[in-house]
Amino acid sequence: MNIVRVALDLPLPRLFDYLAPDSDESDIGRRVTVPFGTALRTGVIVAIATASEHPDGKLKSVTAILRDMPALPAEWLALCEFCARYYQTPLGEVTSFALPPMLRRGKLPRIRKPAADAAVAPAPTVDALPPLLPAQQAAVEAIAGVDGFHTLLLHGVTGSGKTEVYLRAIDAVLARGGQALMLVPEIALTPQLEGRVAARFPGAHIVCANSGMADAARARGFIEALTGRAQIVLGTRLAVFMPMPRLQLIVVDEEHDASFKQQEGLRYSARDVAIWRAHQLNIPIVLGSATPSLETFHHAGSGRYRMLELPERAVAEAMPVVRIVDTRREKLQEGLSAALLAGLQLRLERGEQSLVFLNRRGYAPVLACPPCGWISRCQRCAANLVLHLADGRLRCHHCGFETRVPRACPDCGNVDLLPFGRGTQRLETMLVERFPEARVLRIDRDSASTPKKWQALLATIHAGEADILVGTQMLAKGHDFPLLTLVGAVGADAALFAADFRAPERLFAQLMQVGGRSGRAALPGEVLIQTEYPDHPLYQALVEHDYVRFARTQLDERRIAGFPPFSFQAMLRAEARTMEQALDFLAAARSAAVALAAGVTLYDPVPMRLQRLMTLERGQLLVESPSRPALQAFLAAWMEALYALKMPAGLRWHLDVDPLEF
Ligand code: ADP
Ligand code: ZN
Ligand code: ZN
Repeated sequence: MNIVRVALDLPLPRLFDYLAPDSDESDIGRRVTVPFGTALRTGVIVAIATASEHPDGKLKSVTAILRDMPALPAEWLALCEFCARYYQTPLGEVTSFALPPMLRRGKLPRIRKPAADAAVAPAPTVDALPPLLPAQQAAVEAIAGVDGFHTLLLHGVTGSGKTEVYLRAIDAVLARGGQALMLVPEIALTPQLEGRVAARFPGAHIVCANSGMADAARARGFIEALTGRAQIVLGTRLAVFMPMPRLQLIVVDEEHDASFKQQEGLRYSARDVAIWRAHQLNIPIVLGSATPSLETFHHAGSGRYRMLELPERAVAEAMPVVRIVDTRREKLQEGLSAALLAGLQLRLERGEQSLVFLNRRGYAPVLACPPCGWISRCQRCAANLVLHLADGRLRCHHCGFETRVPRACPDCGNVDLLPFGRGTQRLETMLVERFPEARVLRIDRDSASTPKKWQALLATIHAGEADILVGTQMLAKGHDFPLLTLVGAVGADAALFAADFRAPERLFAQLMQVGGRSGRAALPGEVLIQTEYPDHPLYQALVEHDYVRFARTQLDERRIAGFPPFSFQAMLRAEARTMEQALDFLAAARSAAVALAAGVTLYDPVPMRLQRLMTLERGQLLVESPSRPALQAFLAAWMEALYALKMPAGLRWHLDVDPLEF
């Protein structure tokens, strides 16, 4: 009697056996509908067996094996199995996540009939491409010369022509009849890139994959990748799970970007999973960045990855000039220095664009009543409510709670409530007053709340219909604004002394990136960074555009402190009704770990930095090891112990392997 072993989307680290008399090996990788409890569920068949650990009589039969699309290939299942193992997540949760929602539910999109043998038609390349710069040429040749698996780091400042290198490498893959996968950090970036790729490969079948797509479109793209029809898959992190039978090249653009790591559910790093996949398939993978993650840079330094450098910008004559504006002895006007104001004035006179970068949206981070000490706090989180004057609301940026701005202090009735600190809305207001003739445009998650609004804002900038942009990091990534010649960064210092050891790395990348927006065409760019720490090595490295020096200094500090990439970490987090419950659970988890933790350091349970979120109290426990295999072996054993621990009602926990947020 044939038995199928099914991965179901349940928080249980096991497979489920069902009788399936008409099944055979070719059903491995198919979706299957099965009875579970009182309902039907859809899962994926991962193995066929002839015996079960459960007595045959008690096994239920499958409801239906879904043979309406090709089975998921062994390579795809192996990828999911790796993620399940590495991220300590039940396989059924991984396979479920890796499938588009529609296929996960056992449905199928309407499929258009493909044109005859479209899949194998080589993509015609547009003629008359610009000749490559020598460094680009060398990079393209290096990628073409890779035989089998290799990780290549394409390190080049913004505008150095990295994308051009990716496109050439993809061209070569298509010419051989292969498929290429390109991962980008943000949904917002895919339309631009898609346009560029489509223009470059007009005959090619390009599929996008991101969470913003309609269900049917996403499922269709998945099937087109699976059947080999799609030649290029472009997508955000979840695209790393697209099945591609002829995959020959993976590109991860802006590989340092934190959005490649998912922060809930399956907490995977798409970059790391992509590297594993390239290794498994024995194909090259190209990681591109102006500011590689220190993990990646470390591997390039040790020779594990191959470093390809693009030292110069492709079009602009020079890198933007970066200047530090010392604000210690200056009286700022609404946070802006005289130097920055003069710079803005000059751009206005010249008809060029400027950008004031402040990574904090809203009007002010908190509203306060100075006489009685009341401040706007979220009722559900250990956080302040942010003042949004544009629509008269107080909002929690953590849980989404919102309420009207009170007319008077709720505690004492005082009507003179004061906003403290500064966000993009406040800067916008100030700039409008200060430069009445300028068209000021704010770009943040509030003004660009939908893809449509975002595209409209971008169009306004491109049409030259804005003079001064005020924006958060939304604007930092990937966009070319030919008229933009000045970037002013304000409020950056806060990140210098943040508790998270990765904060400087992020700040450096962010400032490099946002600075890279200026002077991307014929007009030279200038970057002004306002700071009270003008001598800080991070800023000095920015002035000199010296990523390598910055990275080496940071790596030295990490080595001494024993932080990644010199150690490997995992974080156990627990949330409960009281902090005591959360910490008690973590303490019990720690006790259970002691006997298992050979070569692994166990830290003490502590409250998380954002202690309370959505009324739940949160604690965390860090574990660390200089050896990845040692950590992995420990985690596997620990998980079993964790599943067996007693928990108070309402407590939830999860494990985050290679956590990025502390
Ligand atoms: P990056 O991805 O590193 O930011 P891009 O590939 O987008 O850089 O290139 C930046 C700009 O330079 C683009 O407008 C691109 O068309 C142009 N460019 C790239 N390579 C060349 C080249 N070899 N000759 C002329 N222009 C180039
Ligand atoms: Zn909240
Ligand atoms: Zn008051």
